[in-house]
Amino acid sequence: MAKIFCVANQKGGVGKTTTTVNLAAGLAKVGQRVLMIDLDPQGNATMGSGVDKRKLELTVYDVLLESASIPEARAQSDKLKEGGCSYDILGANRELAGAEVEMVELERREKRLKQALAEVNDQYDFVLIDCPPSLSMLTLNGLCSAHGVIVPMQCEYFALEGLTDLVNTIKQVKANLNDDLQIIGLLRVMFDPRITLQQQVSDQLKAHFGDKVFDTVIPRNVRLAEAPSYGLPGVAFDPSSRGAQAFVAFAKEMVARIGAMS
Ligand code: ATP
Ligand code: MG
Repeated sequence: MAKIFCVANQKGGVGKTTTTVNLAAGLAKVGQRVLMIDLDPQGNATMGSGVDKRKLELTVYDVLLESASIPEARAQSDKLKEGGCSYDILGANRELAGAEVEMVELERREKRLKQALAEVNDQYDFVLIDCPPSLSMLTLNGLCSAHGVIVPMQCEYFALEGLTDLVNTIKQVKANLNDDLQIIGLLRVMFDPRITLQQQVSDQLKAHFGDKVFDTVIPRNVRLAEAPSYGLPGVAFDPSSRGAQAFVAFAKEMVARIGAMS
């Protein structure tokens, strides 16, 4: 049975997509079977996994509207295979922006993805869902499907404040729609230890959230930022870079945590 995680933070540009594709690649590298789902109409996680969003005939949009199943719509990337960290991709493109409106009339609209995932549950060890920077019907579909949420965050002044909305949303979804849901952990990303403020916020995070803060810290690393323009996660693009190594360490931490959970 796959463990299903959303990578979510309603704040834009905090590193959700970078975390999703690199964790997917890191998990694949350590032998896990992974499905990556792009729930963002921007399609960055799709492109960053080596799949051209403009050429996709079937996407997560078709799955949400029940005009295709996940086995029909998932794709694979030759680039990832060459990089030795292959995972399946349920892609997204601009079409997905319309799903929100088209789903308004539908019944059980927040559980569409969950239902579709039931069919492939035994084919994967991990399903990772890249959420858009909003608390929309798309994000809600992600949260309803998941066992937990991974929250990437930058250690900046307003970081804790921004978390309150997300924590409240997760509580509401747990109470009303998905009793399983919990925060798996907060992941410190784009971290620069030379910046005193980042150290201070990091300490505050640990004081507030204790064990919910992952041990692994993802450094600011230019190779992680360059990799998407080659259609690859940093883990595949430059495995020896500090950023890639941090994500492989994070993948191992996830495997250990999940092993301890179940
Ligand atoms: P959005 O809210 O738009 O979906 P996001 O939360 O998915 O954004 P990313 O796209 O992952 O954020 O990252 C934002 C930018 O920061 C990107 O240009 C990415 O390449 C860069 N970036 C992310 N993580 C790192 C890192 N550890 N080091 C350097 N650059 C990074
Ligand atoms: Mg993103």
